[in-house]
Amino acid sequence: MSDTGRSRFKNEEYTVGWICALPVELAAAKAMMDELHGDPQRSPGKADANVYVLGSMNNIKIVLACLPIDEPGPSSAAVVAKDMFYTFPEIQIGLLVGVGAGIPHFSSDNIRDIRLGDVVIGFNEDDSGVVAYDLGKKLADGSFKNYALNGPPGPLRSAVAALRAQHQVRGNKIPHYIEEMLGKRPYMRRKGYSYPFQVPDRLFRPDYVHVGGRDCTRCDPKAEINREDLSRSETGTDPVIHYGTIATGGTLVKNGIFREEIGKRYGAICLEMEAEGLMNIYPCIVIRGISDYADSHKNNLWRAYAAAAAAACTKELLEHLQHTQIEERSISWQDHAQVSQLYKVSMTHQPLNAPSCTSPVELDSLQQCVPCHQQFETGLWLLRSNELCTWVDALRRNWFCAGNRTTGRAITPKAVVERPYHFAQARRRTLSI
Ligand SMILES: [Zn+2]
Repeated sequence: MSDTGRSRFKNEEYTVGWICALPVELAAAKAMMDELHGDPQRSPGKADANVYVLGSMNNIKIVLACLPIDEPGPSSAAVVAKDMFYTFPEIQIGLLVGVGAGIPHFSSDNIRDIRLGDVVIGFNEDDSGVVAYDLGKKLADGSFKNYALNGPPGPLRSAVAALRAQHQVRGNKIPHYIEEMLGKRPYMRRKGYSYPFQVPDRLFRPDYVHVGGRDCTRCDPKAEINREDLSRSETGTDPVIHYGTIATGGTLVKNGIFREEIGKRYGAICLEMEAEGLMNIYPCIVIRGISDYADSHKNNLWRAYAAAAAAACTKELLEHLQHTQIEERSISWQDHAQVSQLYKVSMTHQPLNAPSCTSPVELDSLQQCVPCHQQFETGLWLLRSNELCTWVDALRRNWFCAGNRTTGRAITPKAVVERPYHFAQARRRTLSI
C-alpha cells in the first residue's frame, strides 16, 4: 500500500469516480480504501482544478475527489465531475458519497425510522431516486413542475439489487468496515469516526426551535419525538440502510417544518445539496450517511461517524458491482482524446480545430449559454437520439445546426459537449452494434 509517488496504473485504468463534498467525507473514503495508489500517472492539466486520491476497493480502481472547501452545492459538484472526466476519461460510473440530513416519517401508515448514523441510498424501482426540489418550472396555474434527473446507471442498479438481496439473509457490513478502518487508523477515533455514544440522537418536533447548547442541552426533552418503541438492529446502534428518494437542492436546510414539507411533497427520506449538479452529467448513485435532521438543532457532532457509515456502505455496495460491466474498453484512447478536446473547447471557448463537432460560428457563441444547472433538460432529446449516434460514429462529418436566432442553435451542441460521458456512451452504443 502506498499513497506517495505516482500510481502504477494509467489514468485510463480507473473506471469509478467517487465525489465528496467535505474533507471529513474524503478522509473517511480514503481510509476505507483497500489500497492507495499515489498520484495520477498523467497529472491533471490546467483545465482540471481537482486534487485526486487514487486507490482501490474490491479490486476496483477508484478516483476520489473533493469539492473545494466552503464551496458546497450543485455547481461546484458539477465542475468537479467534469474535470474528473477530463483527466480520467474511462470513468464509467460515479459515486456521490457523504453526509446528508434525514427525513424520518412517523405517520401510522408510513414509518421510516431514520436515525443519525443510518445510511440512505437514493434508489427507487420506478424513478431516479433523486428529486431536485428547487429546480423546475413555475406553471401558469401556479403549480411547480420539477425537472427530471437521471437515475443510477445499470451496473449500479444491479449492484443495489444484489446488496438488498444479501441483506435479506444477513446484516450489513457497515459496523465491520468501520471497525476495520479504525483498527488500521486508531487516530480517527479521536476525530469522531467511531459511534458517538456520548452524543444522544435527539429528534425534536418539527416546530420546536433550538434553545441552546452545542448538543441541545438546553432544549426541552418534552419536545422530543419518542422513538423508544420502534425496533432497530440487534445492537440498537448498528446503522440501517434505507432506500428511497433523496431531495437535492442548493440550499442548506435548518428548518424542521420545511424538512417535513419536502418529505411530504416528494416522499423524500433525505436532504442533500450536491446531487442536483451531478445526476444529468455524471452516471452516479447518491449515498448519504445521516448526520442531522435539517432542523435548527443541527450540529456537526455526528458528521464524522455518518461519513464513515456512508463510506462503509459504499464499500459493501462495490462488492456487488460486476467488474465486467465497468471494464469494457470499447472506446479507444484516440476517441477519448477527441472527447477531451470537445470538452476543452467548452471550457475555454476557443474555436474548434478538430474535424467534427459544430461549425466555428456556433462554438463561438457557446460562451453565452445559460449556466449548466439551468439546462438539465436542454438537449436530452439529442443525447438520446439515433442522429447523435450516427454523427459521433462518423468522426469526420461536420454537424451543422441550422435555425434562426434564439432557437437553441448554440445551446443544443453545448449540451453534448458538456457531457463527455453521454458523448462517450453514444459512441460506445454505436460501436457495439
Ligand atoms: Zn436544540
